[in-house]
Amino acid sequence: MNRREELALSLAEVRERVAGACAAAGRSVDEVGLLAVTKTFPAEDVALLHDLGLTEFAENRDQEASRKVREFAELRPGARVRWHMVGSLQRNKARSVLGWADRVDTVDSTRLADALAKAATRPVDVLVQVSIDGDAARGGYPIGDLPRLADYVARSDELVLRGVMTVAPLGMSPEQAFAALYQAVTRLRDDHPDATVISAGMSGDLEDAIAHGSTCVRVGTALLGSRRLASP
Ligand SMILES: *Cc1c(COP(=O)(O)O)cnc(C)c1O
Repeated sequence: MNRREELALSLAEVRERVAGACAAAGRSVDEVGLLAVTKTFPAEDVALLHDLGLTEFAENRDQEASRKVREFAELRPGARVRWHMVGSLQRNKARSVLGWADRVDTVDSTRLADALAKAATRPVDVLVQVSIDGDAARGGYPIGDLPRLADYVARSDELVLRGVMTVAPLGMSPEQAFAALYQAVTRLRDDHPDATVISAGMSGDLEDAIAHGSTCVRVGTALLGSRRLASP
């Protein structure tokens, strides 16, 4: 089996899981987008996934991503895809990340929001990254304070609040975590009706996330295979 066939097969499997989870939750598959997390994999894989119909890709490191985005553009000139930053982001990288990312999914402080706003040369779509258990080491803004950061981002002229993103914490069932996120987002919608994105669920827990309102699953391993250790 060549790489294209391999990816086609895993993509079909992922789509089937998403469809099954949507059916179980009484949701339409159109409500749940698939974001391919291509970190550590080459631009050639992005090109093949694009040929198979995917248009949304995510990376977690600025340097690797900017190179890959350039390489992909050479492999598939004129292809219309969107790139997402899903890794933790230092403020001094804001300008560089905006050079390749169409959306920054990991805004977890007012200071990072300020840095992105300052670096922006166009309106920038962002998600607020939420920490469900308050463990600062894993990134994310405390869920209890979510309205504060959401309001802050929404007031910025340069940033456009599209929704929220989370990674399920280790010490809690994904089920519980995604349910808590959904509750918080439901309250947030009163003030921010256009913040409709809930980015939740990865290879291991996408069914739980879809059961609790995810509109965007971020899938790496289940699509591309297991990652070798990331380069330092
Ligand atoms: C790597 C990564 C993913 C994908 O994880 P898999 O378990 O490989 O599907 C999703 N979200 C973020 C933020 C990641 O860094």
